[in-house]
Formats: sequence, structure tokens, C-alpha cells
Amino acid sequence: MFDVDERRNIPATDRVLGEPPLAAAAERFGRQSVKRVVHTAQQRARNGDIAPQDVVDETLRQLPRGAGGLRAVHNATGVLLHTNLGRARLSEAARHALGESAGTCDVELDTGTGVRGRRTESVRRALLEAVPAATDAHVVNNGAAALALAATGLAAGREIVLARGEMVEIGDGFRIPELLESTGVRLREVGTTNRVHLEDYRGAVGPDTGCVLKVHPSNFVISGFTSTVEVAELAGLPAPVVVDIGSGLLAPHTRLPDEPDATSALASGADLVTCSGDKLLGGPQSGLLLGAEPLVTRLRRHPLARALRVDKLTLAALHATLTGPPTPTAESLRRDPDELRERAEHISEKLAAAGVPATHETTTATVGGGGAPGVELPSAAVALPEHYEPALRRAEPAVLTRVERGRCLLDLFALDPADDPEILATVRAVRSTPEA
Ligand SMILES: *Cc1c(COP(=O)(O)O)cnc(C)c1O
Repeated sequence: MFDVDERRNIPATDRVLGEPPLAAAAERFGRQSVKRVVHTAQQRARNGDIAPQDVVDETLRQLPRGAGGLRAVHNATGVLLHTNLGRARLSEAARHALGESAGTCDVELDTGTGVRGRRTESVRRALLEAVPAATDAHVVNNGAAALALAATGLAAGREIVLARGEMVEIGDGFRIPELLESTGVRLREVGTTNRVHLEDYRGAVGPDTGCVLKVHPSNFVISGFTSTVEVAELAGLPAPVVVDIGSGLLAPHTRLPDEPDATSALASGADLVTCSGDKLLGGPQSGLLLGAEPLVTRLRRHPLARALRVDKLTLAALHATLTGPPTPTAESLRRDPDELRERAEHISEKLAAAGVPATHETTTATVGGGGAPGVELPSAAVALPEHYEPALRRAEPAVLTRVERGRCLLDLFALDPADDPEILATVRAVRSTPEA
């Protein structure tokens, strides 16, 4: 039974709110909302559920994890575009643009004339500059939305001709054929699982064809006895050719030679390219439609386009991504493996000096996010005992690692070198917790 006298030890609200971490939280979330959490913790102490001296800790535990309900984590998994971690890390320019556009802004106004303007105009211009092979561009909420709009606008009630080997599931139950069928198109499948020929397409294209679709299989490869039909060959067919390149490379990338890009697809004769904005492009979640002016205009004016419209925050972050310095995604892709190894060595030496059993080794990172399957990127990691994985995942800030051969690998590929000191400090702090 709880001792009544002990209730006197329950700290007063103002005292709890005066504790530095809670004062900081009050600044961040508002004093009233933190106060409510304190009251609940005090009540739990009165009920005897927690000890009076734990009121501050209990309050901290119950507070929202981040102002946005999401918690910032460091991506040390070695998967550059980790879907569970929000894919691309935005550039400083994009983060700044998010802040600037968060209030009222000229998203649909020409401040020079005072006349209503088109909301996607500045991003449209930036896209056309980045992909001169396109004569028009449109932005929607994600890659799937871009594909849905293309399918609906070009082929609703009609057929989309598509190779059987490209009827893929991209991840977490997202199936391209099911998305397409949900728009009211009929799929006309051509070829076999491993092989398709131009003749197959030619035999299927007819008066009922809305478009021919080529889908980048993204996260898997078929090897062995295979054949596919290139965009240039499909371009000769009497139907619009749509290419879903998936990951949003706007131009060829030397380190990812097999990854399709918008410029090459359009130069080869594609009428329309669809892709994501938050994979290799390195921007916010968004979907791009790039291609021939009459076609894109038709899709932009389709009633469904309004339901897929992006907000001002996305437009601002995407514009900054397109016009600003190289994105963190691009920076990671061009990092020298020797530099990564030196960083891993430096961190592991510092950790070892602090009594953490850390070593360093070369590793293989991947692109992830449904892009560049089979591409192995040379990287380096700090290796720790396996039990560091859950401890680092729960640390503040959280560091997400991967477990390989019984060790916790802190892969540096997707990390900003500027974050190394914080990560070092986190591992050292974790060492002194009972869990590690
Ligand atoms: C990722 C991907 C999509 C879906 O894009 P989201 O932005 O995730 O909606 C569609 N097609 C391909 C080929 C992809 O790789």
C-alpha cells in the first residue's frame, strides 16, 4: 500500500516544469500541453504506480517524441534510400525552403501583377531546365500518383500494353498492375516472365490501346535467358509510350550505369516519363510527369489531377532540391570509399580509446528505396557487438544500424560527415547504459 506521507514528496508542477529538459520541452510543445503530461505523471505517483521522484522521468517518457510526431534518426544502415526512414534526406536548401514557405506564400500568385498564377510554375521551369528533352512537366504527390494519372488520362476504359516481366510488386504490397487496374484500365500483357519482343508489342497494339507502358522492375533483376524491348524500339509503335523509371534520375549517373533516367528515356522517344521525387532525385515525396507538351497538359487538366495536387511545402522543397547544391543523396553517391574508410577508422579508434569494443571494416552499401537492384556500393562501417543495435535504435538521437554476421554495423555511406561527432557521442553514451 502506498504511504500517504510519501505523497508530500510528489514534486509540484512548477518545480517539474523548471527541470531543464522539461523547460526545453515546454518551449517546443507549449507549456500547457507539457503541463497536462506532468499532471498525469503526478496522478500516477499519487496512485502509487510510480515513485514520486520519477515524475520528471515519467513526464519525459510520455511527451511526444518530436514536434511533428516523428523522431529524427541517423541512417547508419548502409541503405541510402531507406523507405522506413523517409527515403531521401533533404538538402539544407530544401529544409530552408520548407521553413520559408510554411507561412503564407505566393504559391498561386504573381506578386508583380497581383494576378493569380499557376502553382507549379517555378518547379515546372526548374524541371525543364534539368531535363531539356521534356517540353512540359507536372508534379503530383508521389510516383504512384504520377502513374495513376498517366494511366487514367491516357487509357481509362481502354488498354495498357505492358510486358509480363514488368508486372511487379515494388514493396510493402504495392503492385504496379493492381494500381493500374484500379484506374479502370485493362491490362494487355505481352511476352513471358523472362522474354518479350517487339513483335509481341506490335501484335497487341491496336485501336483500343491507350498507351504502351514500360516499367523499371526496380527491386529485382531477371538474369539468364532474357530479352526486353528498348524504349527506342517501342517508340516506333502507333501508341504513346510511357516509361515509369521509378527512382527519379533526371540524367545518366556514372555510378549507376544501369539505372534508367528521364533524359535518356525521352531522347529515345518516350512520350512521357513518370518517377518519384524522393528516391535518387533526393527531394521530398513527390511524383513527376515529364514529356511532350500536349500530353502533359492533357494530364494536368484531367479532373483527377486536382486530387493528386501537391502542397506548397512540397513545391518549395522540390524547387530548392532542383536548383540548389548537390543533395545529400548525390553527395553520398560520389563519396570516395577511401574517405569512408578513414572516417570509420577514426571513429572506431576514438571508441576503442573510450573502452568500446569497436573495429572498422569495408562494407557494401545499397541504394534501396526500390532502386538500382544488385548495385553494390563500396563503403565502410564501424563494427560493434550485436547488442548495440537495439540500444542505439532506442538512443537519443536514435542511430539505425544493421546486424550482419552477429555484429552491429554502423555503415557510414548515408551519413553526413558533419554528424560523426554526434554519432560517436551517442555510441559512448549507450556504452554506459545497462542494455549495452
Ligand atoms: C518507387 C516506384 C514507384 C512508386 O513511387 P512512389 O513515389 O513510392 O509512389 C513506381 N514505379 C517504380 C518503378 C518505382 O520504383
